[in-house]
Parts: sequence; structure tokens; C-alpha cells
Amino acid sequence: MEAGGCRYQFRIVLLGDAAVGKTSLLRRYVAGTPGAREPEPESEAAPTVGVEFYSRALQLRAGPRIKLQLWDTAGHERFRCITRSFYRNVVGVLLVFDMTNRKSFEHIQDWHQEVMATQGPDKAVFLLVGHKSDLQSTRCVSAQEAEELATSLGMAFVETSARNNSNVDLAFDTLADAIRQAL
Ligand code: GDP
Ligand code: MG
Repeated sequence: MEAGGCRYQFRIVLLGDAAVGKTSLLRRYVAGTPGAREPEPESEAAPTVGVEFYSRALQLRAGPRIKLQLWDTAGHERFRCITRSFYRNVVGVLLVFDMTNRKSFEHIQDWHQEVMATQGPDKAVFLLVGHKSDLQSTRCVSAQEAEELATSLGMAFVETSARNNSNVDLAFDTLADAIRQAL
């Protein structure tokens, strides 16, 4: 589908425990568009779903210009009551944990399972994101164990910080490139 001059439109969702920084990461990424103002979520198609999405165009390395449609759970992750429609046609998933919150890391496999349980034959591409990398002194998940989990689940691992704007573009670029390769 043609979308704003972009040949491909990818639907991407951010998942992880409440307060790990998903919304901050997303807003930081969208605000990084040249000339962008403070991002506002676009209205959702079905108000009852309770999710928000943002859009950003992206130039792939050695590839076409694509549009990312980025979906946020808007607080519903707290109750684990995310509707199946949230996962419909999802091509990419950022599994986000807070590197200062051990529980959020332990729950990554649950989030992964939840997506896998809703997938049809076209499997989504995942990326593991260790967020709040600016908080190194209170960090309680090592890069090595995060890498090991990512490898065991068949995905890459990136450490990000919305506060320091560290690796924010890299995370989304890595996921988009992996999706392109899987097409
Ligand atoms: P969500 O519930 O996963 O959407 O998380 P939010 O984006 O609402 O962020 C939860 C809390 O973490 C807020 O107090 C944010 O200010 C804070 N936060 C988000 N990103 C970062 C970051 O990169 N570093 C630090 N130190 N705090 C962050
Ligand atoms: Mg949020």
C-alpha cells in the first residue's frame, strides 16, 4: 500500500511491563524526525481498543523509504488486558524491559509468548530492548544475560536511553532492517 510516498508500511508494537519506558522511547523516536514538533498520537480506529499509534517515515539502508506505524499499549499492559486486535498484522515487536528492574526482564518471555500465541503463519520480527541505559549505577541486568536471552529467542539486543537519546534511532533502524530482510 502507498502511504505518504512510502511503498511499505510496517505495523510495529512496543510491549513490556508498565513503566519500563515504552512511551518515552516511542515519543523520543518520533520527535527525532527532522522538523518534528512534540509528537501527538494519531487517533485510533476503534476507541475501545485503548491503544495509540504514531507514524514515522524511515529510509532503509540500501532499501526503500518506508513508513512505520508505531503502536503503544497506552497503559493497558498494567492489566495484561491487551486485545488480540492489537497484534493483528504486526510485523515487528520491540520487547522492552527496564535495565534497573529485574522483574521487567523476567517478564520478557511472557510478552514474547503472548505475541507468539496470536501469530498466524507470518511471524513477526522481534528486537529485545534494554531501556534506561543512562542508569548504570542501579542497573541489575547484565549485557551478557540480556544477549543470552535475545539469542535464545532468536532476536538481537539493543540498549537504549530516551533520557540520553542513546541508541533510540538504532533500535528502530535495526528492527526495520530485520523486517525488510524477512520480507
Ligand atoms: P511505559 O509505562 O512503559 O510507557 O513507560 P513511560 O514512558 O511512561 O516511562 C516510565 C518512567 O520511566 C517515567 O518516569 C519516565 O520518565 C522514565 N523513563 C523513560 N525513559 C527513561 C530513560 O531512558 N531513562 C530514565 N532514567 N528514565 C526513563
Ligand atoms: Mg506508556
